[in-house]
Amino acid sequence: LDPTSENFSPEELDVEKQLRPLEFDDFTGQDQVLENLQIFVQAANLRSEALDHTLFHGPPGLGKTTLAHILANELEVGIKVTSGPVLDKPGDLAGLLTNLEERDVLFIDEIHRLSPIVEEYLYSAMEDYKIDIMIESGPNARTVQLNLNPFTLVGATTRSGLLTSPMRARFGIQSRLEYYKTDLLTTIIQRSSSILNVPISMEAAIEIAGRSRGTPRIANALLRRVRDFAQIKGNGNIDIKIAKFALEALHVDAHGLDEMDNKILSTIIDKFKGGPVGITTIATAVSESPETIEEVYEPFLIQQGFIMRTPRGREVTEFAYKHLGRVKGPIQGG
Ligand code: ADP
Repeated sequence: LDPTSENFSPEELDVEKQLRPLEFDDFTGQDQVLENLQIFVQAANLRSEALDHTLFHGPPGLGKTTLAHILANELEVGIKVTSGPVLDKPGDLAGLLTNLEERDVLFIDEIHRLSPIVEEYLYSAMEDYKIDIMIESGPNARTVQLNLNPFTLVGATTRSGLLTSPMRARFGIQSRLEYYKTDLLTTIIQRSSSILNVPISMEAAIEIAGRSRGTPRIANALLRRVRDFAQIKGNGNIDIKIAKFALEALHVDAHGLDEMDNKILSTIIDKFKGGPVGITTIATAVSESPETIEEVYEPFLIQQGFIMRTPRGREVTEFAYKHLGRVKGPIQGG
């Protein structure tokens, strides 16, 4: 199993749920986002109103789904969960919307992948809590307008650039989640180990945190794999020795970079002499979309100091050469 993969087995998903923070107080990091959300929730609760529609954007695994559930908990309302690609027809959406109770949360993951018809259908629901539905068929077919209970749409997207502007404009609250620093991931790993009942040393927690690509989901996935090693190859406790041994065996990069991260770096070095090179050119060379490179991979590579953005394009740093064990070639005269 690829520890960084998002495709978990059912048991893995159960553990994921077990580790998911349920309240603002359990949630580590993203302080500014959290502070604001707490105020908006308190105000909505005070007025007994639905919270404004809320959009979370940022790379995968940083806590968007978790926050949607926390919002529902803190608003003391129910939550219905779906995702952009699943909502095929307006009818699917109508079914969900008409079943929402007052102030409930409707969470739509990957909201940038809604079909245009469904998206349009959502507009009036978001704006006026009203939808048109078609009743009967054939010559008697007609549309009637239905009133919905006031609700909160929580949307999540890794690709905010792909969201249409009318969609984006309908979210009163918009928050961007950032990668987590190692100390925060260490705290998350310690919390998860205590839930999973595995003793872990501080040093081991820091080691795993440092290799988690700034991402809580990866931190938890690595923790579970290291736990396996500790149970089978050790005495069940996670110390620095078993952590290092396991991470080595899992081929986890010292900086937690994944295959695509490394491919992007080596491509810029090998094919474009380290840059500067445009994002579209990089994307073509690694067979990914420019938006994904820009929104999922690049932010982490920049944050970690592997890539720089220059007016002429992206350039890799000395650090990237060192990381890949390459030597920077002589500058070609021209
Ligand atoms: P996203 O929806 O952004 O892809 P999720 O909300 O599904 O990410 O988070 C992935 C996992 O990471 C969750 O199961 C949760 O256990 C963990 N997680 C995310 N953010 C935090 C956090 N701030 N504190 C603790 N655990 C977190």
